[in-house]
Amino acid sequence: MNKAKLYWNKMSHGQRHAIETAFISMIVTCLILIMISLSYKTYATNDYWAIYVGDDKVGVVSSESAANEVIRDVESHFASKAASVEQISVQPSLSKKIVEENKSKKIKIDSSEGIVNKILTGGVDVKEHHVVAGDTLWSIASSYGISIDQLKEMNPDKNLDLILPGDKVIISSTRPMVSVHVVQRVTTKESIEQSTRYESSAELYEDEEQVKEQGAAGVKKIVTRQTKENDRVIANEVISQEVIKEPVERVVVKGTKNRFRYPLGGMISSPFGMRIHPVTGAYSMHTGIDITGSYGATITASSGGRVSFTGYKGGYGNTVIIDHGNGYKTLYAHCSSISVSVGTTVKQGQAIAAVGTSGVATGPHLHFEIIKNGSPIDPQSMLR
Ligand SMILES: [Zn+2]
Repeated sequence: MNKAKLYWNKMSHGQRHAIETAFISMIVTCLILIMISLSYKTYATNDYWAIYVGDDKVGVVSSESAANEVIRDVESHFASKAASVEQISVQPSLSKKIVEENKSKKIKIDSSEGIVNKILTGGVDVKEHHVVAGDTLWSIASSYGISIDQLKEMNPDKNLDLILPGDKVIISSTRPMVSVHVVQRVTTKESIEQSTRYESSAELYEDEEQVKEQGAAGVKKIVTRQTKENDRVIANEVISQEVIKEPVERVVVKGTKNRFRYPLGGMISSPFGMRIHPVTGAYSMHTGIDITGSYGATITASSGGRVSFTGYKGGYGNTVIIDHGNGYKTLYAHCSSISVSVGTTVKQGQAIAAVGTSGVATGPHLHFEIIKNGSPIDPQSMLR
């Protein structure tokens, strides 16, 4: 040390300066070399990333962001599009690991879609089909929803054209390599059925209805927490329901007006139905009601309509038939006189004939029928 100091002191100023300059430039060169080697290292080591399902390497991509994207794509594959995802877990877990470049071995890069597809379909379930008497290649293949060629591909070591009862045939099917558990919130809209309120009106007949207000169905928003295992929904929990549009009540008016009134104010001497005929003595159907009345008393139209028949009609004697529309007709028999003619439009309560004994009758009365779609019905079921 002392020797070195001695030399240094003996040197001229110029010599010292030259050594200093050489020393500094050496340091600078070293720094530059270090920097170059550092930058060369980052430049040379490409970020290759391997993707793992559990411990199994399923592929390599050329950047960390591509690796993250693959993992994200698999995770989000089973989440519904419009849902907001609360939780996703994947079993076995997906992971990424940087791959050191090895000059002697070229790294094979896979496409991201290829890796995603492999993870989503690369799992294989293997089943054995035990051949029984009556099985054919076609019946086995079709019972698993595959073709004979696919069945042969699944059994490359066997000659399937010679299968016998007791043989085993491999049936493989693909499934995702992972089980993705998704908890997501799903928002749906559902319609709310409207209610109907009935009002009554004396303006309408009792068998008539009119829609006064159409109303409208409501809408509610339902938020559900849905748990999925891959494609399968395993739980659905309603979290909230909110009415976003109240239903509007439908209003229907029901008529109260009697379509038919008594055509004559008297006693019913013979009701509708089977009876022993008062004149012939035969047990037969009485197709109307008999209402007592004095000879010449006024018979009125039971309901408004158009007169469709007047005249003598066998045992009915002098008869009026009124057509009321809607399939209804009324018939008035045994009249002494008729005051309307065919084609006359009559109102409910309007005089149409007079009580008599024409036709087959034991005394003055009105035989009254209500005919619906061609068949007589019990008038008392319609009269009030
Ligand atoms: Zn009668």
